[in-house]
Amino acid sequence: MSERPKELTLAELASPNYECRACGYVYEPDKGDSKANIPPGTAFEELPTNWKCPVCGVPRSQFANVGATNAPSGFQENLNYGLGVNNLTPGQKSLLIYGGLVVAFLFFLSLYTLN
Ligand SMILES: [Zn+2]
Repeated sequence: MSERPKELTLAELASPNYECRACGYVYEPDKGDSKANIPPGTAFEELPTNWKCPVCGVPRSQFANVGATNAPSGFQENLNYGLGVNNLTPGQKSLLIYGGLVVAFLFFLSLYTLN
């Protein structure tokens, strides 16, 4: 019946940073641009149209949205998934590796005894 409102992630709700594709300078809305008298808290979209990169001087159109730094991104959350091996301590990892070797060795022995 009623349309659901568009769901936004935390990263989309926060003002994203914009990176200059020419020199790598990153405009952070939380910091603004003191050189151009842009007060902190100014979103990239709210910058004056004649605003230029304070480092190399390219126009706004040369900037790319690189997402917000202070909000969780999907990519960082994904680091906790996968095989889960990244969350193991080194001791647990070696136990996993040597345990696997022992199992493989026993499996190999069982094949040998069958013959
Ligand atoms: Zn630049």
